[in-house]
Amino acid sequence: MQFVSTRGGTEPVGFYEAFSQGLAPDGGLYVPKNLPLLPSDLLIDDALPYPALAWDFLGLFNDDHDPDHLIELVDKSYGDFSDTMSAPLQQVGENIFVLELFHGPTLSFKDFGLQLIGNLFEEQIERTGETINVLGATSGDTGSAAIHGLAGKKGVNAFVLYPKGRISPLQERQMTCTGADNIFPIPIDGTFDDAQAIVKELMGDLKTKEDLRLSAINSINIVRVLAQAVYYVHAYMQLPPESRDDVNFVVPTGNFGNIFAGWMVHQMGLPVDQFVIATNQNDILYRLFNTGKYAPEKVHPSHAPSMDIQVASNFERFLYYHNEKNADATLSQMAEFQANGAIEIANFNASNFRATRTDDKQILENIRDVKECFDYVVDPHTACGFQDIDEDKTHVVLATAHPAKFPEIMKKAIGTVPTDDSLEALKKKKQVNYPVEATPEAVKAFITEHSA
Ligand SMILES: *Cc1c(COP(=O)(O)O)cnc(C)c1O
Repeated sequence: MQFVSTRGGTEPVGFYEAFSQGLAPDGGLYVPKNLPLLPSDLLIDDALPYPALAWDFLGLFNDDHDPDHLIELVDKSYGDFSDTMSAPLQQVGENIFVLELFHGPTLSFKDFGLQLIGNLFEEQIERTGETINVLGATSGDTGSAAIHGLAGKKGVNAFVLYPKGRISPLQERQMTCTGADNIFPIPIDGTFDDAQAIVKELMGDLKTKEDLRLSAINSINIVRVLAQAVYYVHAYMQLPPESRDDVNFVVPTGNFGNIFAGWMVHQMGLPVDQFVIATNQNDILYRLFNTGKYAPEKVHPSHAPSMDIQVASNFERFLYYHNEKNADATLSQMAEFQANGAIEIANFNASNFRATRTDDKQILENIRDVKECFDYVVDPHTACGFQDIDEDKTHVVLATAHPAKFPEIMKKAIGTVPTDDSLEALKKKKQVNYPVEATPEAVKAFITEHSA
C-alpha cells in the first residue's frame, strides 16, 4: 500500500516511510492512497482474538513487513493488555454498549496506537542501525502512553516535556515510575504550550533535528489511525447479530484521530449509521459540524483535559476525503486556515456525523446518571459520550480512559473513587524525573548529554 499526502506535494511512500516521517514533508498528513474493502471473512467469523484481527487488518496496508514479522510486532504490542479481549464490549443497557479501550498499560485508548509505534521504532532501529531520540510534549495521556510504548526499548531514548504541577499526579507517576533508564520525563516551569513551543523549535531546526537524530511522538502518525481502526471492527463483531444493522458509534473527541479511524473503516465497508462526535466545552468540532465553519477559539481547561484542544489536527484527513481526495483543494483550504485563522467549508456535508457538546457541569451529571441508570462508572471523557443518546437505537460508546485516572473529578461526581491495581502499585514506586530550565537551549543540551 502506498500513502499519499493530503496536500499533494509529496511523492507516495510505503508503510516504513509513512511511519518514520510522521508528518509528510509538504506539511500534509499521510493517508492510504486507496482504501481497500474490508475482507468479508473479517465480518463473518465470530470476533477474532484481538491480535489476529489487528494482524489481518494492518496487513491490508503494510507490504513492507513480512507477515510473520508483523505477527510478532502485533503480539508484542497487544499481548499483555490486562483484559484478554483487549477491547471488550460491555452491554450496559438494552441497546447501549460500551467499548472499553482502557485495558492497556496506561489505561487510555492511546495505548493501542503507541504500543505498536514503540515496537515499530525498535524495529526501525534494528533495520537501519541508527539510534534515535524521541522528543515530545504532553499534557497527560499521550506522553504516558508513548513512554510505556518505548520504555526499555533498545537504541531509543525518550524525552517527554510536561508542565510541572499541571498534569494529574497519577499521570505524572505513569511517566516517572517506569524504572526504565531510556526514559527522561522532564518537568518544566510553564504551561503545556510552553513545553510544546520548545519541542517545535527544536524539531523545526533541521540541523538540530539531524544532529540529535530526533523523532516525534506524533499525534498525526497514520500508524496510530490504522491501529485504532482495528477496534471498531472488533466492537462490531462483539455485538449480538440482531444489533448489527443500524449502529451508531459515539466517540469522545479532541484531535479527531480516534473518530477518523472509525469513519475510515466505515468507508472500507463496516456498516455504521452515524458517528457521534462528543466534544467537551472546547467545541470547535461541534460548531463545525453544525455550521460548516472551522474557527478555533481559546482553550478552556475542562474536566476532560485530554479533549482540551483548539485545532483538531486529524481533521485535515477528513477534509481531504470531503474534497473527494482533491489534494490541491485541501492545500488551499489549509493555507487559508493558516492565513485567516478560520475557514468556511463550502457545501459542507456532515454525511454520517453528528456532534454533541458537554460542559463541565454536564460531565459530572452524566457520570452520576450513567451510574444510576446503567450501574456503570465512566471517566469524565467517556461521560461526554452519554450526552444525547437515543436509547431505542444501538449505540456503542467508546470508553477512552479508565475512571481511576481522574480521582478528583470522580469523587466530585459520585463521592467515591474507582481504583485500579496498576495505579495503586505506582503510588509505592520511586519517581524519577529530570527538571530542566524551560528554554530550547537547555533542553537541547540535556538531550545531547543523554542521547541514545
Ligand atoms: C486523547 C484522548 C481523547 C481524544 O481523542 P482524539 O483522537 O484526540 O480525538 C479522548 N479521551 C481520552 C481519554 C484521551 O486520552
